[in-house]
Amino acid sequence: MPDTSQTKSPKVIAITNQKGGVGKTTTTINLGAALAEQGKSVLLLDLDPQGNASTGLGVGAEKRDLSTYDLLLDEAPLLDVLQETDLSNLLIAPATTDLSSADIELVSNEKRSHLLKDALQVPELLALGLDYILIDCPPSLNLLTVNALVAADSVLIPLQSEFFALEGLSQLMLTVREVRQAANADLRIEGVVLTMYDARNNLSRQVEADARDNLGALVFETVIPRNVRVSEAPSFAMPVLMYDPNSKGSQAYRDLARELSKKA
Ligand code: ADP
Ligand code: MG
Repeated sequence: MPDTSQTKSPKVIAITNQKGGVGKTTTTINLGAALAEQGKSVLLLDLDPQGNASTGLGVGAEKRDLSTYDLLLDEAPLLDVLQETDLSNLLIAPATTDLSSADIELVSNEKRSHLLKDALQVPELLALGLDYILIDCPPSLNLLTVNALVAADSVLIPLQSEFFALEGLSQLMLTVREVRQAANADLRIEGVVLTMYDARNNLSRQVEADARDNLGALVFETVIPRNVRVSEAPSFAMPVLMYDPNSKGSQAYRDLARELSKKA
């Protein structure tokens, strides 16, 4: 467990894109692992009912007694929901399939957009001395994602290096703007990271050029390459940084972590 003698507010980053399969979960797990490896204290919050981030970090369904569902909808204390992972410095609040009904249950809740923010505004959290909270969002702009955006300091957007990659981005930016107006005026865009990049592929290079033209400095310099070791790691229930520390994927996520840390 992290040093509990210190108190500070972590930086909360929502990793989001309403498209599925773009590398949100992979980025959450491996950016989290890389930050932890670099000495940062990290909590990964799994907010996707599929629970892939939980599985990918070795928290199988049988080990998820309490989950982010309980945190949001059953007032479970934050510390009871957290679990350690095989990486020191990396904690996880796992998700279960219960979350798939949360979106509907939340609609009738007066505080529906603020439940996660409230759950994180507790002294126990400060005592954990975390540097970062990374939220793995579901592939939709539903109330779970809105909860993540309301609770977050910033948004990190994985963009798959494929055709139509930029298409969904305007909808996401619109949602960010709405959340700013309604609930979280200081919400920033942390950056856009290109994932599954293949430098030999014209299309990857074209998507990168388009993204840098349109979004400028918002696009991280670090690009995550398509790397088979990255896609194999979850079936061994570990981040690629543990599964194959010297792979191109591991190195890229370390670079991304350093670039993120430098931004402060
Ligand atoms: P999302 O959370 O946005 O739905 P995932 O992170 O689950 O996306 O990634 C979708 C699929 O792509 C997964 O099978 C994952 O293993 C694979 N994948 C993600 N990033 C890479 C990469 N850099 N290289 C190879 N495969 C990747
Ligand atoms: Mg996912």
